[in-house]
Amino acid sequence: MSATIDINSVTKAYGALTVLDDISLSIEAGEFVVFLGPSGCGKSTLLRMIAGLESVDKGTIHIGGERIDTLPPGKRGVAMVFQTYALYPHMTVAQNMAFGLENLKVDKAEIDSRVQSAAETLEMAHLLDRRPTKLSGGQRQRVAIGRAIVKEPKAFLFDEPLSNLDAALRSRTRLELAQLHQRLGSTMIFVTHDQVEAMTLAHRIVVMHDKKIEQIGTPMEIYQRPATRFVAEFVGSPA
Ligand code: ADP
Ligand code: MG
Repeated sequence: MSATIDINSVTKAYGALTVLDDISLSIEAGEFVVFLGPSGCGKSTLLRMIAGLESVDKGTIHIGGERIDTLPPGKRGVAMVFQTYALYPHMTVAQNMAFGLENLKVDKAEIDSRVQSAAETLEMAHLLDRRPTKLSGGQRQRVAIGRAIVKEPKAFLFDEPLSNLDAALRSRTRLELAQLHQRLGSTMIFVTHDQVEAMTLAHRIVVMHDKKIEQIGTPMEIYQRPATRFVAEFVGSPA
């Protein structure tokens, strides 16, 4: 499953501090889009607004043509993967993956089959009975991704999912994410401050800076034809 995501003139402030100013962006179904920008530029806030974890002050968000910014998070058809994994230590891997589905009233046999299938996709079927405390960082990250897959979302939202991994594991997991995207064909938004991650993963990169979108383009366009001095300096292109 995959869907378009349309963000239209979205604005967000925390008290007197505006953090996103009139952001518009259309994402195609099945596209892999990276939000790239320095810490504090509003990437997570924008992602959390799509997920329904933050409210939208002004503007609208549509997924698959349906307006979702007024819907509760569970009804938006998106699944978010966090940097910190957010796993429950007292539950097994299988229970962690199943957790969100029980709330969505998916029946038991269907839950078991989705968990099994996601575990096989992520090559972690042998870990299903373990607890998160007995897993490595990379394995925990897979469980967090598995928990998103079993929801069969229209879009996956990743907030810096690799930044807690060491360099070797980061590049391996990056490759696995690209493969996962090919296999599932879902719309994916991936937030990072790392230019290399953005360049290697994205169909299109959205470069963000100081409440605004600086440029939207393919990695090649961003690198070869940076629209602003900020973009040129941030992606390190030879402008
Ligand atoms: P990024 O993910 O790009 O690092 P964030 O979206 O987390 O940026 O934050 C954007 C800005 O909003 C920052 O200035 C941050 O301090 C501020 N901010 C984020 N969340 C909150 C909040 N809950 N309350 C107040 N300010 C916040
Ligand atoms: Mg962030």
